[in-house]
Amino acid sequence: MAKAKLDPTEGTPFEAVIGLEVHAQLKTRTKMFCGCENRYGAEPNTLTCPVCLGHPGSLPAINRRAVEYAVRVGLACGCEIARFTKFDRKNYYYPDLPKNYQISQYDMPLCGGGAIDVYVGEAKRRIGLTRIHLEEDAGKNIHAEGRPESWVDLNRAGVPLLEIVSKPDLGTPEEAGAYLRMLRQILLYLDVSDCNMEEGSLRCDVNVSIRPRGTSALETRTEIKNLNSFTFVENALAHEIRRQIKVRSSGGTVEQQTLLYDPARDETRVMRGKEEAHDYRYFPEPDLAPLSFTEEWVEGLRRSLPELPAARYERLQNALGLSAYHADVLVRDRGMADFFEECVALYPKPQAVANWVVNAVREEANIRQVSARETGVSPSRLVDLVRAIDEGKVSNQKARDVFKALLGNERPVADVIRALGLEQISDDAFLRDAVSAVIQEHPGPAEDVRKGKKNSVNFLVGQVMRRTKGQANPGMVAKLIGEVLGAS
Ligand code: ZN
Ligand code: MN
Repeated sequence: MAKAKLDPTEGTPFEAVIGLEVHAQLKTRTKMFCGCENRYGAEPNTLTCPVCLGHPGSLPAINRRAVEYAVRVGLACGCEIARFTKFDRKNYYYPDLPKNYQISQYDMPLCGGGAIDVYVGEAKRRIGLTRIHLEEDAGKNIHAEGRPESWVDLNRAGVPLLEIVSKPDLGTPEEAGAYLRMLRQILLYLDVSDCNMEEGSLRCDVNVSIRPRGTSALETRTEIKNLNSFTFVENALAHEIRRQIKVRSSGGTVEQQTLLYDPARDETRVMRGKEEAHDYRYFPEPDLAPLSFTEEWVEGLRRSLPELPAARYERLQNALGLSAYHADVLVRDRGMADFFEECVALYPKPQAVANWVVNAVREEANIRQVSARETGVSPSRLVDLVRAIDEGKVSNQKARDVFKALLGNERPVADVIRALGLEQISDDAFLRDAVSAVIQEHPGPAEDVRKGKKNSVNFLVGQVMRRTKGQANPGMVAKLIGEVLGAS
């Protein structure tokens, strides 16, 4: 389905300048600086210890796996990996932050530079990255409906967070959405985050300003916090860009502010005036030694990277000849793309296989909310079905019924086709008999075919299909009609 393009600057003298700041929870077994389990959905305050509760005298220790994951993401995005890096304290006071500071990275982030390629419609755009750094998550304040008090759950306090900051290279809400989708795919392909926006393991802040079209200075921006779905990101941006255009068009100035988006009302509220970095009194974390990496270790991680979504998207089109649509649908779901490639390895007809994976398999997987593999049709049985169609053993239409009958059992495709009575009849003598009978019943149309009327061929084919309950091979029938009536 073609989505309406969201460009709220259309027809105005302004263009938008958008940057995204994404926080992704890393799916390590334990937290960033202590041995507590890193898991969503546990009883409140059961996954805590003196370190993540911020007790005085407790000491943090760096989670090696979290650093490794962060470096993998940096390498996948073409970043420069720092050979020497350190952690810093970002000081602020909030009930979900028991230490009153967050361990983060300030002036020496783990990764710098890099870019993410984003596909918007036909166009490919390269969106630059400013930095990627590691930090810890805060706990969660819980404000229950209709109750006067609030609670604090510290299970999330200390969970490893990767912060990925883009350059202000994005120009429309649609591009921002595409960037976020591609970043999410990269994190999923690297298997370093669940990227579940509903559970908060992927969160997005956006900053946005407008400027007269064609100018290049960066103007005052606003920041919208904590957008937890792709749609909210796109809608909040569209809303905020329209608001800024209205302010500027009526001679006002945009104030630097932090805003909260209310999806129910599609409006933004002011959360606070924008703070500056110096408000946080950053200083080096004295309880953690700086980190340095050897070339060897970094290169080892680089070699272990899987094929990334953008490269796969291009390969499926260029090497396997898939359409952009099929390549896109497959690449979006790594499990679906892996399933497809296993099928193609067994039966090298990529487009025919892709049709079945993208339509039948994906539909079934979506209905049942399972992966391609869990639908119960293995790659080898799916390609048996595609091969049966190619060999004329079952028609394309009837094959959908065969596919349904393959679900949830191990029966061979040939048996299922036979059991359902859906074998396509390609037997020459049998089809000749059926064609003769139909010609006798319909002398008028038969005469028309002799005179060269193509439509009447279709009519006669239809009659043969009816007579054989849809089992005749329609291609053969058409050929035989032509032969018998001397019109071919
Ligand atoms: Zn802990
Ligand atoms: Mn952060």
